[in-house]
Amino acid sequence: MPDPFGREAQELIRREFGDILTLLERIPSSIGVDEALSLVRWMTDSSEPPAELLKIDALEELRDLFRFYALLGALAFSPYGIEVEFVRKATAKLYRARIERKGSLEGSLLEIEPAEEVPERDRKILERAMDRNLPKEDKEKLKLKYRMPLSKFIELWDGSLKEIYIRRGYAYLRWEETLRLWEMAFERRFDRAVSILTEVRDELPEFYEKLREKLEELAGEYFKERLEKLGKVGAKPLRLDLFPPCVKEALKGVPAGMRNYAITVLLTSFLSYARLCPNPPKRDVRVKDCVSDLRIIEEEILPIIIEAGNRCKPPLFEDQPHEIKNIWYHLGFGLTDSPTLEDSGNSTWYFPPNCDKIRANAPQLCKPDKHCRGVKNPLTYYLRRLAREERSEAQGGEESG
Ligand code: SF4
Repeated sequence: MPDPFGREAQELIRREFGDILTLLERIPSSIGVDEALSLVRWMTDSSEPPAELLKIDALEELRDLFRFYALLGALAFSPYGIEVEFVRKATAKLYRARIERKGSLEGSLLEIEPAEEVPERDRKILERAMDRNLPKEDKEKLKLKYRMPLSKFIELWDGSLKEIYIRRGYAYLRWEETLRLWEMAFERRFDRAVSILTEVRDELPEFYEKLREKLEELAGEYFKERLEKLGKVGAKPLRLDLFPPCVKEALKGVPAGMRNYAITVLLTSFLSYARLCPNPPKRDVRVKDCVSDLRIIEEEILPIIIEAGNRCKPPLFEDQPHEIKNIWYHLGFGLTDSPTLEDSGNSTWYFPPNCDKIRANAPQLCKPDKHCRGVKNPLTYYLRRLAREERSEAQGGEESG
């Protein structure tokens, strides 16, 4: 299949399995860990996918989809790890190469149709049809091939609109532009799929955890240089400048009705996961699984929470001194104000609430910016920006977009 998120693939999954969870339950009885890895392993020693992965026999299409969805299932166990970047990059390259080979994007995840209804005069100018000196292959590249509803196009496009021919609510695209758009849509859908699967990972067979371990090895090999430069993904100092708008609002202090939600629920969970365990290995993780003493909490996280509480009107902890116990409770230490590391696990370490919960409970906190697009949880916002920043730092630049 040239596009595992395309219409044909989705129809095949619906017809054969009904839903993705059933598909993921069936995969381990059909393919092994090594077979799933074969879809991405080539990236460690080649920049281009091998020929045998580009042409898939019709009878093998389902098996080929199994390999892709097996990888997605594995990534649900490490949604912010380097494995995600590795698989995203390898599969985007592979499927792009398959699409180029096929020469068509119809049936892909993009909402496109043939580029019709372009006045002849405009087409001649845009495609430089009268230019006799232009080589044939260059003329081919200039051809308007597809059109896409402008509203869908704007959601994806990161370039200037001046580059695009727009007419009657449609953006008209050349082959290369459409491919670029497909790649952006693929990556976005990929991240969304991993984040949705993270919510059901406890129901997935052990196969996926084993596959994730192997992916971590491959990604470690592929990103060896970068990892050496940056140190392994894990507990690291907070970058307040990359916090999402809702967390920045909570840090400024909030009025009485919102204090407990903003400080105890949102800030406590966000700061603790972002600082101590940005990539939780399991759902019921405890603080003691991530750090060996409480210093970071006492010296870095609590002071930020207390300061934000003091900025509330009226100040939260003056008004409700017992709320400190509640902070420890939300960190998983039970209701206490003098915990030890061993107490972690006495209550649940609350994960940051999803954006829809924040909007429902404290709508004034949610003031989305451009980085919020497609984000379901404020921690995802932060980790994405952090990863992008680290990537560009490793390449010697600044975070873009
Ligand atoms: S969209 Fe989500 S991350 Fe962005 S401000 Fe709103 S709640 Fe925060």
